[in-house]
Amino acid sequence: MARHLITSALPYINGIKHLGNLVGSQLPADLFARYMRARGNEVLFLCATDEHGTPAELAAAKAGKDVADYCAEMHGVQTKIADGFRLSFDHYGRSSSAENHALTQHFAGRLADMGLIREVSEKMVYSNADGRFLPDRYIEGTCPNCGFESARGDQCDNCTKQLDPTDLINPYSTISGSTDLEERETKHLFLCQSQMREKLQAWIDSKGDWPILTTSIANKWLNDGDGLQDRGITRDLDWGVPVKKGGEDWPGMEGKVFYVWFDAPIEYIACAQEWVAAEKGTDWERWWRTDKGADDVTYTQFMGKDNVPFHTLSFPATILGSEEPWKAVDYIKSFNYLNYDGGQFSTSRGRGVFMDQALEILPSDYWRWWLLSHAPESSDSEFTWENFQQSVNKDLADVLGNFVSRVTKFCRSKFGEVVPAGGELGETEQALIAELTTRMRSYEDHMTAMEVRKSAQELRAIWVAGNEYLQTAAPWSTFKTDPEKAAAQIRLALNLIRFYAVISAPFIPDASETLMAAMQTEDTNWPDDVAAALETLQPGHPFAVPDVTFRKISDDEREEWQEKFAGKRKS
Ligand SMILES: [Zn+2]
Repeated sequence: MARHLITSALPYINGIKHLGNLVGSQLPADLFARYMRARGNEVLFLCATDEHGTPAELAAAKAGKDVADYCAEMHGVQTKIADGFRLSFDHYGRSSSAENHALTQHFAGRLADMGLIREVSEKMVYSNADGRFLPDRYIEGTCPNCGFESARGDQCDNCTKQLDPTDLINPYSTISGSTDLEERETKHLFLCQSQMREKLQAWIDSKGDWPILTTSIANKWLNDGDGLQDRGITRDLDWGVPVKKGGEDWPGMEGKVFYVWFDAPIEYIACAQEWVAAEKGTDWERWWRTDKGADDVTYTQFMGKDNVPFHTLSFPATILGSEEPWKAVDYIKSFNYLNYDGGQFSTSRGRGVFMDQALEILPSDYWRWWLLSHAPESSDSEFTWENFQQSVNKDLADVLGNFVSRVTKFCRSKFGEVVPAGGELGETEQALIAELTTRMRSYEDHMTAMEVRKSAQELRAIWVAGNEYLQTAAPWSTFKTDPEKAAAQIRLALNLIRFYAVISAPFIPDASETLMAAMQTEDTNWPDDVAAALETLQPGHPFAVPDVTFRKISDDEREEWQEKFAGKRKS
């Protein structure tokens, strides 16, 4: 039994994510976690909400709430939606947890001890009326380029010009509206990533099995221009992990917090501590400390491509720089973007389907199947309603759903609701078993390699093989001349339903459960031996005809949803 630590990139706390976010990390991570568990491996699958930083403060202010309350509430919302999509996290943590506070402070202190932190004085905008420094997004003014009156401190939304807060004409605080602003010196901590360059390069070079896309992004950041740059790890904000050196105060850093990019990935580790605190597990160190049992763990991270630099360089700089025996990532699975119906998903314009809306119109398996079978792996992919309708109606309703319905209903009408006895498997059946065996080994190889689309294609081909067999064997015709043979055919077909339930569970867990319940079995053993697996349900074993497993999407529904999710027109 192998041990797999699996993490999904942490979704940011401010709002509900769209389907593109879901398929970019959490959903494929769940597929892999479910598969690894199904094969008998020990799995720890972790994810958490990323809660610190200015966007959380701004979203809370917009909602008229205290930022801590806002984050607690949104964590609840995101947890419920994750459950709705059957994301099987062993723990869904929070980067604002006490565990992450302590661990972030520990890492900062340790990195300082290793000579990897330096103090830098910077000039930043201070608001006298608000009594605080203002991050870029808290300052607005007139754009020097186009005259737009509400240009932000980092960018003008009207002409898209990148700005510094000092470029703005008549700048004001977006908190109080005050124009009483001045530049003040403030001290910040920088992580000396430049000192870590050779160590990181050697580590990246040791990852011979990583995709070129991943290593080339890392190498670009390591070597382009002046090479990897030192990076600020603190901010003048209230909301975040207070800057401390381990458990001790950090002179000169009072009232400051760690920058969200520094504390968020540390939550991958802290989340395992939260998992223990929540009494779901007993020993987090055997997953994360190579001196305490984690040396045989395989650690896989899932993320969108925009997160790759961060996970190949910034977080490893923290881990490797500490020179403590932390488990570092073994494999990074990254994804391109999912686009929406001829454009992009847009949170601000409400364009595209968001996770809560998706569950309101159809059960999660429909979405899971489409998203995973169209995962943006080698390039960006696109969601269209036509494609979604076609995929659901064909793959799920016509192929899988129809097979289950025909087999169980036919058996009930001719043999009753039990697995029929009698008859022998013939050549057609042996050919089917041979095909399924070949396809199963290929399916397993793709799943192990995290080739999501190829896995889905192979699974679909396995469903199709059953349908084609049913068409060829035609037990309803056989029954008229040779009822014994028809019994053998239908016995095989009933066993195929259990077989499908077991192997499809990583993709469509709810349908799988429904099928297992209908077949009245809890035997989820993986079919290492296909022929033997197709004899699991013995003659006389009872079953029930399930309700419709997958319904079809009508043209009217498709048109209605297309209209509904098109987004508000930009005025
Ligand atoms: Zn402008």
